[in-house]
Amino acid sequence: MNLILLGPPGCGKGTQSVLLRNKLKVPAISTGQMLREACAEGTEQGLKAEKYLSSGSLVPDDIVIAIVKKRLSLGDCRDGYILDGFPRTLNQADVLKEWLGHQGKQVNVVLNFELTEKELVRRLTGRRECRICGAGYHVEQAPEKCDRCGGDLYQRDDDKEETIRRRLHIYKEQTAPLISYYTKESVLKNIDGLGDKTAIFDRIEKALNGVSVN
Ligand code: AMP
Repeated sequence: MNLILLGPPGCGKGTQSVLLRNKLKVPAISTGQMLREACAEGTEQGLKAEKYLSSGSLVPDDIVIAIVKKRLSLGDCRDGYILDGFPRTLNQADVLKEWLGHQGKQVNVVLNFELTEKELVRRLTGRRECRICGAGYHVEQAPEKCDRCGGDLYQRDDDKEETIRRRLHIYKEQTAPLISYYTKESVLKNIDGLGDKTAIFDRIEKALNGVSVN
């Protein structure tokens, strides 16, 4: 199954992608995580992406598309994948459609997470992430070290309030148009993003019932 998680920053895509990966047994691919890793490793693409990431802007399509195509070409993507954070522009969506079309495949379902701006800002300003494995926490319930791998937790530069407002604005301008794009393709399912992660995952499981897979 080729599944896309769509929604503004802070809507819970990352948390749900981990639960979905365990259920569907396909890789969960986060472009944000891959870009942060490329920056940390100092690769050519990472160095180019750095200033966009820290200011909360979208990384140019050519860089992101190259990274995604390389990742989707690996053997573990043969039976499908969960895309977290891609596509984020109409051009990226067109490229993905063409890429899948060449393989006789398509996007099977797009889960669109809905949440108020107030709740998004609350979540993002309190968000903490593991430096090693990328696991996400909220400051109110965060352990001292990552539960999964013992790594240090930190606040991403782009989770500071001013940058958050900018990211939400960019989401509305550049990414929200994908809602009507995928509605027209008849693959969009809206998910109420409010509540704890299990309640949200239940909604996702219901939404996935009867989705056809190619
Ligand atoms: P995320 O971890 O999904 O919140 O992404 C963090 C940052 O990575 C975004 O604010 C962008 O700077 C960059 N990014 C992630 N995915 C994309 C994408 N599909 N297109 C452009 N930039 C992206």
